Amino acid sequence: MITLGTSNARFAGEFPAEPRTVIRVSRDPGRPAGLRRREGFVVHSTDIPDGFACYFLIDGVSPADLDPGSRPVVTLPADFSYLGDGDIVRIEPHRGAARVLFRRSSAMNSFLLTEQCNNYCLMCSQPPRQVDDGWIVDEILAALPLIDPDTPEIMFSGGEPTLLGARFLELVQACKSFLPRTALHVLSNGRSFADPDFAAALGRIGHPDLMVGIPIYSDLADVHDYVVQAEGAFDETILGVLNLKRFKVPVEIRVVLHRQTVDRLPDLAHFITRNLLFVDHVALMGLEWMGFARAHVDLLWVDPVEYQEQLAAAVGTLDRARVNVSIYNSQLCTMDRSLWRFARRSISDWKQEYVPECEGCQVADQCAGFFASASLRYSAAIAPILDPWWMGPFQIGSPERRSR
Ligand code: SF4
Repeated sequence: MITLGTSNARFAGEFPAEPRTVIRVSRDPGRPAGLRRREGFVVHSTDIPDGFACYFLIDGVSPADLDPGSRPVVTLPADFSYLGDGDIVRIEPHRGAARVLFRRSSAMNSFLLTEQCNNYCLMCSQPPRQVDDGWIVDEILAALPLIDPDTPEIMFSGGEPTLLGARFLELVQACKSFLPRTALHVLSNGRSFADPDFAAALGRIGHPDLMVGIPIYSDLADVHDYVVQAEGAFDETILGVLNLKRFKVPVEIRVVLHRQTVDRLPDLAHFITRNLLFVDHVALMGLEWMGFARAHVDLLWVDPVEYQEQLAAAVGTLDRARVNVSIYNSQLCTMDRSLWRFARRSISDWKQEYVPECEGCQVADQCAGFFASASLRYSAAIAPILDPWWMGPFQIGSPERRSR
């Protein structure tokens, strides 16, 4: 089990007075002295080097009878045993809590910037909350300089990250400064970029590898506004996409596939090719049964095999127009094989699972599999693929961008 949520931790010894401290993890007893002051050492033997900001004792990893002396010690449960060099952890001594913010070995690390949002989507996996969470920005600003500069990609999500205004821009600038080789994927509803000054300010930062992922759920404004539960959202979102492209910011359109969106999928594809042909990527995405989606199952559920015709038509329209299109979070056995080359293994590794029906499947290592939440509802058509002809000319796509 991997712990990414906040977990109980026990603290002993002297810690800073701040309510939260962001610490990089090390298992290397030979770390240079200058780096140790910002790092926590995972104790895995009786050889305990001096000078680290704190020492992590992990149940089942650290010697049980170890006495770390007068050093500041954080004792963590065994499910933190994966903690490795370069991971980043937030510790909260006064609350007795710890949380992993960044895993160096993960292909995708996502930072939630705020829980506030101006949409209220039917299937929102992270339902918005009107809370004062401005401290999150400070925490991420503290974490960014600690992240391995060779990290391939990080993601900013929410809530709606752009509601942070200037502080959002500050975070993008910090990514450019500290992680110039790391792709930054921002998930936004795009509405803030209807303000051309805001879109221009993002463009001026000149991040070398930025992509803003923006959902558009229909070619009809009223359908999109219904899905996001916000009147006027469609117009602002489309204007936002246009402004971003005007200021040379790459844009990905994200369409979540569910009962309210699949019928007009071919029409949406035509809308994109006629009006937004210049977008950089279109992702057609299976639904994650989290948050509001769980409360709206009857409104949203459709077996993926029932919308394959619309999916194939939409992909065909986009592909013929030379739009870069991918299918995310979808199972290969529910798809026509002509679509496999558009499928991506998109689900973040720590969320990805398979179901018992996958037993023996020869394309499991190429298939997106399922979100852990899929136990609520998944296709009745799941069945192992036993013939290997998929190894032919159309290789299944690589995970260039993760879903979330
Ligand atoms: S059986 Fe499972 S692993 Fe195989 S294609 Fe279907 S969902 Fe993917």
